[in-house]
Amino acid sequence: MTSATLDRTGALSLLARCDELAAHSTLPGGLIRRVYLTAEHRAVNALAGQWMIEAGMRTWQDAAGNQCGRLEGSTPGLPALLLGSHLDTVPSAGRYDGILGVLIAIAAVDRIHASGIRLPVALEVVAFGDEEGTRFGRALLGSRALAGTSDPAWLDLTDEQGITLREAYRAFGLDPDALGAAARQPDDLVGYLEAHIEQGPYLEEAGHALGIVSTIAGARRFSLTVNGRAGHSGTPFERRHDALAGAAEIVTVIEATARSAGIIATVGHLEVFPNAVNVIPGRVELSLDLRAESDADRDGVWKQISDALTEICDRRGLTVDARQTHSAPAVACSARLRDAVAAGIARTGNADPLFLLSRAGHDGMAVAAVTEIAMLFIRCRGGVSHHPDEHVLAADVAAATDAFEAAVLALVAAETPRSPAAPADAAAPAATPPA
Ligand SMILES: [Zn+2]
Repeated sequence: MTSATLDRTGALSLLARCDELAAHSTLPGGLIRRVYLTAEHRAVNALAGQWMIEAGMRTWQDAAGNQCGRLEGSTPGLPALLLGSHLDTVPSAGRYDGILGVLIAIAAVDRIHASGIRLPVALEVVAFGDEEGTRFGRALLGSRALAGTSDPAWLDLTDEQGITLREAYRAFGLDPDALGAAARQPDDLVGYLEAHIEQGPYLEEAGHALGIVSTIAGARRFSLTVNGRAGHSGTPFERRHDALAGAAEIVTVIEATARSAGIIATVGHLEVFPNAVNVIPGRVELSLDLRAESDADRDGVWKQISDALTEICDRRGLTVDARQTHSAPAVACSARLRDAVAAGIARTGNADPLFLLSRAGHDGMAVAAVTEIAMLFIRCRGGVSHHPDEHVLAADVAAATDAFEAAVLALVAAETPRSPAAPADAAAPAATPPA
């Protein structure tokens, strides 16, 4: 079968588009790394924009470099249901995390447009330029701009080459001081739906192709520094203040504390100073990432860990500094939108879908600041993501596209018609899509 004979919104076409996007990478050898405000970002925006136009949408790139498309409802200017995900990746990424959600959203709009139905809301697809935070170390830069929650101080963040976010916006042809124009207003929106691979094993274990996100876990991150005293490796134990031995005890206590509380904790980064074979470690820096369905549970575990840090360090003659580097509250998906996703999944033959906690962060966490959100999860092989082995079944992509389209229609059917957000000739809010 040639691509010309494929249904443009069918699973094989979507998977072929994932392959086409995967070719835009800064890494050689088929590995994928595509980050914010780069030539690769520009290239995938152009491709996604072209597919949006084929799907009947009017397109533009917003002030933060997010690629957007809009299909008007029965009257021009109606509030919009946002659909989307992200096109950026981590280093050595898979080809579906984020990307598949953008393509499913475009396909759903394509089908609705082709059917000729006139909806009581507009549909917009947003392909976010930065969710992973790979380039500037700060996640959700695209979706936070859309939500109007960007912090101007972030413009001074730098990438590995020392290029600031401000300079990167300029090099991309965007005005860093006009970022606020990307912000959307709650009155212009009726919700946000996102399809995404699960990044976990639960759908596969349960034999389900699709699931519904109940909550996106809240996260806190800390940078911990354990200070001891460096010295010759001939020093007797009773005279040592070994920062690494203390840090090792801290890592295992963190795991045990989180495990017994039923939440997730990860120490993923560890640096030892001076890191020499015959020197007692004098200082260790480590990271801590805590995630939980409830902010109270997460904060309770941090309190326990914090007390344990003090006890361990006091006992070993060490000191510890803890600095919080990130905090995001848990975001519950709205019942109204979850019901629509459930109705969508029911149309594919599963009337009893699984509800899942998302331990990974998503654009919806940021978008929730301006409108209600919900997510459809798609089974991925072995729960593997952020890795070249990321894999989805074509049959699951087909089911996800059917369910997503049906979820949009179910949500829209429940929507009472509203008047247009602003008359076409009035002074429109900055982020109203350009006519
Ligand atoms: Zn993602």
